[in-house]
Amino acid sequence: MYYCGAMRKTFTQKLFRWYSLYKRNLPWIGSNDPYKVWLSEVILQQTRVEQGLSYYQKFVKKYPDIQQLANAPHDEVMKMWEGLGYYSRARNMHSTAKQVVEELNSSFPDTYEGLIQLKGIGQYTAHAILSYAYKKPFAVVDGNVLRVMARYFGIREPIDTPKGKTLIQQHADSLLDKKEPDVFNQAMMDFGALICKPRQPDCENCPLQKSCAGYQQELTDILPVKSKKIKRQTRYLHFFVFRAGEKILVEQRIANDIWKNLYQFPVIETSKNVSSKSLMESEDYQAFRIKNPLPVITSPIFKQQLTHQQLICRFYIFDLKSIDKIKRSGVKQVTFTQLKQLAFPGVIRDFLKINDYF
Ligand code: SF4
Repeated sequence: MYYCGAMRKTFTQKLFRWYSLYKRNLPWIGSNDPYKVWLSEVILQQTRVEQGLSYYQKFVKKYPDIQQLANAPHDEVMKMWEGLGYYSRARNMHSTAKQVVEELNSSFPDTYEGLIQLKGIGQYTAHAILSYAYKKPFAVVDGNVLRVMARYFGIREPIDTPKGKTLIQQHADSLLDKKEPDVFNQAMMDFGALICKPRQPDCENCPLQKSCAGYQQELTDILPVKSKKIKRQTRYLHFFVFRAGEKILVEQRIANDIWKNLYQFPVIETSKNVSSKSLMESEDYQAFRIKNPLPVITSPIFKQQLTHQQLICRFYIFDLKSIDKIKRSGVKQVTFTQLKQLAFPGVIRDFLKINDYF
């Protein structure tokens, strides 16, 4: 993929002019600190800027440099991340911070090959660090850029296939302003977020309209093309809240899934919706071996929509004389005050908030 200098210059001039007038004022923009660039990129993956902003500010305040993040207790980092979802990002982030501090003298590599070795850093984040922090000529291609490129060049190749992604990366590489790669990359993202939006792009006010193939060929409604429809699995989770006086029973998830290391209440999962009665008669429930077998409160249904899963959750609250003998590996008793220090998945946090535990 190659564009003549004049074409590239026109594209960049229009983009930069628009950016100088309308750029978003975000705290990580203009930073040449690779730690802050990396932190913002990790937080913003699969997260809207409006949601990620407060988390970025919170993390930078608590951990102003990578050493402080690396030395923080893991539970504290997970608690700070609570509510942002995709918890593997937090786990990878913490382990990468330790690796950079312990093995790389607290400095992020300034090469693609060096960065890509680090846990949780893929092509996108490596390009972001190299262009924003080190001003190196690497084009950053996120969801915004995929959309802008697909529309601007009228690309009908699905953008969620390796072929489509490679094609768009080549277009972006070829258009990249090599003198100011950081400004170019940020301008492309802001342009995608504010003008060439996922729905109803603002073509009437777009400075690139005259040369946009998607607009000229009236394809903006169908571009970008995606090949896959996301299939969602429905999971039914029944959480058991066993309380006795000031104590409550929790367990830490050790399974290697999206909630690894987070806390939860003892849970039974079923593949379909079941009544409370049949749940209480199940072997899994009997294995708790509690004396008073009925909950005092059964919550309404709590739902959480994840990218590939729909969670249908219910909480069964028990007030017991003692929770010492409840059988379950990995459970531990905490006080209501200690409960506040633990990181929970979003759906449990919603339950705790509604019930005034937090
Ligand atoms: S004309 Fe419309 S579709 Fe083309 S780049 Fe501008 S906003 Fe996007």
